Formats: sequence, structure tokens, C-alpha cells
Amino acid sequence: MKRMRVLLSIICTFTLLACGAEQPASDGHAAAEQQRFKWKLVTTWPKNFPGLGMAPERFAERVALMSDGRLTIKVFGAGELVPAMQAFDAAQQGTAEMSHGGAYYWRGKVATSPFFAAIPFGMTAQEMSAWLHYGGGLELWREAYEPFGLVPLAGGNTGVQMAGWFNKEINTVADLKGLKMRIPGLGGEVLNKLGGAAMNLPGGDLFTSLQNGVIDATEWVGPYNDLAFGLHKAAKYYYYPGWQEPGPNLEFTVNKAAWETLPKDLQAIVEFAARSVHQDTLDEFTAKNNTALKTLVEEHGVQVRRLPDEVLIALRDAAAEVTEEFANASPFAKKVYASWKAFKDDVNAWHKISEQAYIEAREL
Ligand code: CA
Repeated sequence: MKRMRVLLSIICTFTLLACGAEQPASDGHAAAEQQRFKWKLVTTWPKNFPGLGMAPERFAERVALMSDGRLTIKVFGAGELVPAMQAFDAAQQGTAEMSHGGAYYWRGKVATSPFFAAIPFGMTAQEMSAWLHYGGGLELWREAYEPFGLVPLAGGNTGVQMAGWFNKEINTVADLKGLKMRIPGLGGEVLNKLGGAAMNLPGGDLFTSLQNGVIDATEWVGPYNDLAFGLHKAAKYYYYPGWQEPGPNLEFTVNKAAWETLPKDLQAIVEFAARSVHQDTLDEFTAKNNTALKTLVEEHGVQVRRLPDEVLIALRDAAAEVTEEFANASPFAKKVYASWKAFKDDVNAWHKISEQAYIEAREL
């Protein structure tokens, strides 16, 4: 009897070994591999909007391709499923499993969110991405969104933006006094400190507001996106550099409960598709801004101007004050600011002798 049991045990062992390749067909992991997921993603951009709006479209295409159709994501433009400014809520409530936009839009809910999008005179695209992925930024961002049941991922960057469109020249700091400008977020607070009147208007209202004199100036993105909006038809002077958004980081958010239903490989596909789109957006803006700027200058007679040093220095000093006030608002804000500031100081020191020194050297 005992010998029989040993023999059976040996046979079973060999059978299992022989059939090992097929064994996973009956376990939970394989079942998860067969499962198909259909998600919705809401954005803050008009459907198929050039540049910004292409990031979620490409993300969905790549996820479907890499997962062989196991995870398909339907992308909704602003207003198609929910209005632009409800994208965060929609992902939080599970109306959609994901959203795409900019973290600073949710400042009313997440006080620290500008740190994960753009800080005036803050980090460039390359520096922001380094802080998020190798400097602890993403972990802090996840901590900030945890109470909302959302998992954030970096989702694109435009690179340094333009300071904006002005219908009068800016020669001194005094020219900013009383200037009615569409400039959202902390940039707006910086302008207000210097006597300006910052306003926040949705992208779709910029052209008419500028043309009707409701505003004297507006910032938007850069040549590629601004040309698409026709802003050159409403203002003559196009100022640089975009001190207010030097490396604005876009975001994907994922509803945490939905995230946890995905098997590990699909989670990895979502993460790596987001990471690829994150870099891709910057590449596209870098390539297309050049061409668009040429069109603006050569075909539309746009006057490209650099903000004078005096104005930039005043803006930079005001930005430091605004950022510090904002960073002292709560213990968590202090923690985020400490990480962000330490990283920024370090990377700036490195970039002085690498990127900056090289760019200056090639212009000698
Ligand atoms: Ca902007």
C-alpha cells in the first residue's frame, strides 16, 4: 500500500512536470490574462486638440496595441462626457477610469497640485521629469492624490512656454501695472504682486476676450498651440520666455479601485504607455514650435520680443515670495516644497555646467 502511494506520488510529480507548460491555464493569473477591460478617459482638452489633446489619444492607442486589445480606453474630449474642469471628479467618482489634464487645475481640491504641474521660475521639462521619476516627486504626488482615490502619472510636457500675447509693449515693470492678463495659477499671483490684474479664462475664450479688450494680454502655450488658436490675429507682440510655466507637467489620473482590478502586466502597460507619451509630447512640441514660430513671424508679421531683464528680475523675485507663501500653507505643502526646492537647487547647479554652459558655448 505504501509502495503504491509512493509510486502514485512519483507519477503525479512527473505528470505535473510534463504538463507544467499548461498548468497555468487553470490558475487565477491566467484567468486575469484572459479578462478584457474597457475603460473611459476624460480630458480637459477639446477632442483631438493638437499637441495637448493628442497625448491621451496616443496613450489609448498604445495601450490597446501593447495589451493586444485586453485593455481598450475610449477617450472623451472636454464636454463630451463631463465638462473640462470636472475631469478630476469624474475619475475620482469612477464615471471614467482615467483623466488627462494639468494638476494645477485642481488647486481648489489639492492645494499642493501646482508643484506637480508648474511653478513660476521653477524647473524645466527635463528637470521636472527627473524630480518626478528619480527625485521622489511622483511618490509625493501619489500621497497628495491618495485621499481622492486617484493614482497620478506624468502625462506630457510642453517645454518652456511663451510669456504670451500682448497688445502693448512691456518695457518696464510699470508697464505691468493694471495689465489685465489671462494667466492662471501661481503665475497670476506673481503678476498681481507687481500690480497686474490676473484673470483665469478657459482656452476657448482667449481669442475673443483679447480681441474685445476684456484682457490686454494672455499666455497660452507656445507657437504650435497658439497658432492653432489664432491668437496672432488678436495681439501683435509675442513675448518670451515663459517664466510662468517653464516646464509644465501634464497628468494622467487613474481611479485607484479600477487600477487595482488590473493584472500586473496591464498596470505595467498603462505605466509605460504613459511614460512614452510623456516624452513624446515634449518631442512633438519641440519639433513643431520651430515651424509654427516661423509661420507666425514670416506669414503673419508677429513681433517676437524678449521681456527686459528688469521685468524678468522683478517677476522672479515676486515668484520666490509667492512660492514660499504658498509652500508654508500646510505641513504637507512644506514637505513637498522641501523636496522640490532641494532637487531644483541641485539640478540647477548641474545644468549650469552642462545644458546652460553648452547652449552658451555653441552661441559664442
Ligand atoms: Ca500656459
